[in-house]
Amino acid sequence: MILSPIRTQCCAVSSTESVTQDAVTSGDYRIRLRFTLWDMDDLHGRIALVTGASRGIGRAIAVALAAAGADVAVNYRSSLGQAREVEQRITQQGRRCFTVQADVSLRGDVDRLISETETALGPISVLVNNAGIARPQAIEDIVERDWDELIAVNLKSCFLVTQAVLLGMRARQWGRIVNLSSVAAQVGGVVGPHYAASKAGILGLTRYYASHLSREGIRVNAIAPALVETDMVKANPSARADRVPVGRYGSVDEVADAAVMLARNGYITGQTINVNGGWFMN
Ligand code: NAP
Repeated sequence: MILSPIRTQCCAVSSTESVTQDAVTSGDYRIRLRFTLWDMDDLHGRIALVTGASRGIGRAIAVALAAAGADVAVNYRSSLGQAREVEQRITQQGRRCFTVQADVSLRGDVDRLISETETALGPISVLVNNAGIARPQAIEDIVERDWDELIAVNLKSCFLVTQAVLLGMRARQWGRIVNLSSVAAQVGGVVGPHYAASKAGILGLTRYYASHLSREGIRVNAIAPALVETDMVKANPSARADRVPVGRYGSVDEVADAAVMLARNGYITGQTINVNGGWFMN
């Protein structure tokens, strides 16, 4: 059990420093602190897989999970150079990293992704289903092929990767799954109906798994960002910061912050965390 200070009354120890129960009960600590017990799990020794971690939000989540103590598998589809940069950032933090190419919309690639990751790093206990594409298209321009591709990359991939890691998580009775949805699931958004449908499907998937796995130590949540400054948003001519109530784009680190919180928290499940500058309010 980890005891974490909620407020430092003297600043000799940082407010984020953790003190073990033994140290507290034996009086072996340097300053007087107020402590609280919480169900926040330590990520040290945990293995995390982040899909689509070569760029944007996935990259920031991979680096943030490493900073929180996890060893991280960085999945990418085509951006090997950028994935290697992420690997370097993670290993510089003293964490292990495994970089692995896979198209997460394909069952064969997903099976290889999981088996190679687990051979290299160990059993995956934190999964972030982040990989996604956006094809800004007008309603009348979307053809069946566009629909199928977008649903496969954004939604089917979450099912495939989740299914591939679940067996191990259930056997170990511990797992955290974070799925990247979007404000598009809630208000329609600025990409297209195929994208909005894929992201709404992720919310259904999240709630199903959360409700069926809650007694098995597995927590499943979604993050619904809006207009976070990445390649995806820069490529969308309909994306403008003045659409966001707070008046600016979000940063990838603001989304990563929520992902790390969900990876550590054992009492939040089936929820959608809106990191959207106030665009949609629950
Ligand atoms: P991004 O900058 O375009 O990065 C997308 C990432 O996904 C890249 O690492 C890419 O890999 C990977 N990827 C794409 N297709 C893949 C596939 N089939 N298999 C494996 N990896 C694949 O996007 P982002 O803005 O960071 O978005 C990340 C997630 O957040 C997406 O699910 C997106 O829908 C969601 N989201 C973003 C925003 C936003 O404002 N940015 C808002 C709401 C939701 P390569 O580099 O190898 O191509």
